[in-house]
Amino acid sequence: MTTATARALNNQDRCDRCQAQAYVRFELEKGLELLFCNHHAVQHGEKLKAIAVNVTDETHRLTEIAKA
Ligand SMILES: [Zn+2]
Repeated sequence: MTTATARALNNQDRCDRCQAQAYVRFELEKGLELLFCNHHAVQHGEKLKAIAVNVTDETHRLTEIAKA
């Protein structure tokens, strides 16, 4: 683990597919990053998890919001 990859997602982070707020970040080799909303993370997640070097999943925050 490096501190450089520990940045939390915030509401400035947007899904690369639909511009909704991003809740999952896939870090790939060579410093590439893909950000996805919950919907697109589910759609693309299986493939990306196989190649990602690190995954930040904050979709648990969605359920927290839903409960509030
Ligand atoms: Zn999306």
